[in-house]
Amino acid sequence: MLRLYNTLKRRVEEFKPRDEEEGRVTIYVCGLTPYDYTHVGHARTYIAYDILRRYLEFRGYKVFHVQNFTDIDDKIIARAKEEGKDPFEVAEFYSEAYLEDMDRLGVLRAHLYPKVTEHIPQIIEAVQALIDKGHAYVLDGDVYFDVTSFPGYGKLSGKNPEELLAGARVEPKPGKRHPLDFALWKGAKEGEPSWESPWGRGRPGWHIECSVMSVSYLGMGFDIHGGAIELSFPHHENEIAQSEAWTGKSPFVRYWVHTGLVTIGGEKMSKSLGNIVTVREALERHEPDALRMLFLRAHYRQPIDFTWEALEEAGRALRRLRIALEVASKESEGPPREGDIPLEGLAEAVRNTRRRFIEAMDEDLGTPEALGA
Ligand SMILES: [Zn+2]
Ligand SMILES: [Zn+2]
Repeated sequence: MLRLYNTLKRRVEEFKPRDEEEGRVTIYVCGLTPYDYTHVGHARTYIAYDILRRYLEFRGYKVFHVQNFTDIDDKIIARAKEEGKDPFEVAEFYSEAYLEDMDRLGVLRAHLYPKVTEHIPQIIEAVQALIDKGHAYVLDGDVYFDVTSFPGYGKLSGKNPEELLAGARVEPKPGKRHPLDFALWKGAKEGEPSWESPWGRGRPGWHIECSVMSVSYLGMGFDIHGGAIELSFPHHENEIAQSEAWTGKSPFVRYWVHTGLVTIGGEKMSKSLGNIVTVREALERHEPDALRMLFLRAHYRQPIDFTWEALEEAGRALRRLRIALEVASKESEGPPREGDIPLEGLAEAVRNTRRRFIEAMDEDLGTPEALGA
């Protein structure tokens, strides 16, 4: 029986999918905002969900995996201005680059990659429903979610709104009812893409897209919602509030699974520090499985510090593993030799290895222990 750490419950739980009889598992992973090449932090996250999905399939489940592209966003618009391009062109280009990078890393493609710009009518409908139910309000062309209207606000973080507010970066806007209220819809600005809505031209806020797209494709109470731990607040907290307030149903998600932070040489990865390592840069120097090995040697929830030395060492560990496998397969060929482990013993050794692997993976995807098996 697989056990998974659920951020919402703050403990490891037995994994029981919504549709257990059919053996189906539904997963939504927060995807990329395509305004630049993917970096090693993205690679860590998407490789972790790739492992989760492959392991669920190994355990006999049929997995349905949905992952969005946030294809309209401030960062995309800024990048487009910088490059003198159309924002849609920028988003398209980096979405394709993402898929190429993930293909090279051997990450299985999601079954569906919904894009925000293809779901504007559904998003408008959800925002209107939230207004009608008294969970959202219009403020000169913008629409805000009223966090005090949703009693469960903060449950993913295990904090109340006042505690969340301490240290939070809030969206400044005079007239908001609570500082944590967040935009569901943003009124259009000059020179930016916008769509017609009941509140004037504008575009969706960041959080509502994931509620609308996950609920439309997977339904309320789907199994696993993934993303990097940095997304748990405010993004995922807001997703829960929106989805449960909008549909009047709970839970939105059964298991919240988050991957740990990736730093580079002990520092936070950031454009201003100029320390971002892209997947392409890493793959110029190392083979894709070295990167995968680097991540699997740590548990998926642990923070990882990326260094070139660590990647080098992971590459060496990968080569050692390959040599061991090659020796094992050579040894098992040909007629029996003197000094061989009797066949009976070999079969038992294989069974034991398989059992240790499953035990390790069943316990919240213990990849470091599974590699040791
Ligand atoms: Zn999400
Ligand atoms: Zn998201």
